[in-house]
Amino acid sequence: MKEIAAGSGLAMIIFMAIIGFNVTPVLLLLALAAAFYLFAQSQGGIKFMQGGESIKLDAGISFADIGGQQTAIQELKEALQFIVKAEEIVKMGIRPLKGVLLVGPPGTGKTLLARAAATLTSSVFLSASGSEFVEMYAGVGAKRVRQLFRDARKKAAGQKARSAIIFIDELEVLGACRGTHNSHMEYDQTLNQLLVEMDGIEGNHDPRILVIAATNRADMLDPALVRPGRFDRQVQVGLPDRVGRRQILDIHTRNKPIANPDVLDEIAQATFGFSGAHLESLANEAAILALREDATAIENRHFSEAINKVILGEKLERKPSDEEINRVAVHESGHAIVSEMLNTGSVSALTIVPRGQALGFMRKSPKDDQYLYTREELEQQIMVALGGAIAEEIKFGNRSTGAAGDFDQAWQTARQIVEAGLSGLGIVKGGHIPEKLMFEECQQIISAIEEQTRDLLNSYMDVLYSLTEAILEEESIDRERFQELVSGALI
Ligand code: ATP
Repeated sequence: MKEIAAGSGLAMIIFMAIIGFNVTPVLLLLALAAAFYLFAQSQGGIKFMQGGESIKLDAGISFADIGGQQTAIQELKEALQFIVKAEEIVKMGIRPLKGVLLVGPPGTGKTLLARAAATLTSSVFLSASGSEFVEMYAGVGAKRVRQLFRDARKKAAGQKARSAIIFIDELEVLGACRGTHNSHMEYDQTLNQLLVEMDGIEGNHDPRILVIAATNRADMLDPALVRPGRFDRQVQVGLPDRVGRRQILDIHTRNKPIANPDVLDEIAQATFGFSGAHLESLANEAAILALREDATAIENRHFSEAINKVILGEKLERKPSDEEINRVAVHESGHAIVSEMLNTGSVSALTIVPRGQALGFMRKSPKDDQYLYTREELEQQIMVALGGAIAEEIKFGNRSTGAAGDFDQAWQTARQIVEAGLSGLGIVKGGHIPEKLMFEECQQIISAIEEQTRDLLNSYMDVLYSLTEAILEEESIDRERFQELVSGALI
């Protein structure tokens, strides 16, 4: 629209100039208007004050729509009693709660929690992101903070709500320790303004304002923000465990036809480390894949492919050469056989369809969520990582660059062994091992494991080759097919 108006205006001016009209005053006027518009934009005025994109007013989400965050929900609900039982709180002389800080990795449901809090307390909900307050011009961020609090009061009054919840995402952008930013004056002014506004919140009359902020870097925040009286409640919003992942999958498949609902248990088990946002995307991708095939319900294979897509990205259009595909098949088979040999049933899927950065992929299926590892378990992880390159070596007599990522992973795990005091060096203080010593110890660990992996794969060469042939023919192999192919051979 803007472009059409600009184009027509320009055409009009040219036309006027051609017919001999003096266009200088028009041009001057236009230049003045443009300068005024740019100035207003830079002050954040026009867009922000209109309450346009930056401030969203809605809730409609309840705590029942959030899976796998029982502890966080419990803690948040307790904090919300300050709004729900506001009169009692005042009578008891309790200082009102002004801020709650939600701390956790991206996509775990922090925004959802804030919105559900607004629903539970029938509050007006306003949200803004830390980065929206950051401007090159001094004073703009502070002005925006003031405006946000003013809007909250105004909207609560307008909607006759007794309370308002202001949600600030990415708090670390505006709330980092003062003096740490390059253009620190502007950042500091913005943060100071937030502190001033929070201090100005009064708990004994309407509308009651609660600031809920989210961050994944609580360690970066200015101490003044997290001191009692400001954000003095911190709620941890972590990655969901297996039961939580199942709940989230249930929530996001409520409206989707699933051929075999029991498959959700398997998916929950196979998705250790996934956030709620990953799981939502997984459910969505599976439905898209089913639709593409004109299926009436989402089948297990759609979910399996969706997991690969969420982990690795879209399938690549570019097709590797036959020689490369051959090598990738051997490489992935190597990973899979070592993994299955060490832990029966640990291979969940195997594919040579290129996706994202990977030309092939072997997905393990963890038996259960695991947070602690013994040295043996870590060594087994290194063996699986090295299995690909060693299989290439056995089949082709040489390795390729395809194993660089595996070596990185193997090296990291070896480092973990040393830093956790599980290596021959005994108990060490993580950061205080000289690099040379660390290097030598990791190299020693890895070369010993490399030998073991080679011995192991040499004794299963037949199954390595037959698996390679199967995967070259079928491209992707799921857990059942894999078991069929290797059962009997790996006893
Ligand atoms: P960020 O830190 O990146 O802003 P966030 O923690 O605020 O992320 P949300 O925006 O709340 O994450 O979640 C993004 C989407 O992921 C949600 O809209 C929802 O579809 C899904 N999701 C995330 N966590 C959960 C959960 N615990 N239960 C259900 N759905 C979830």
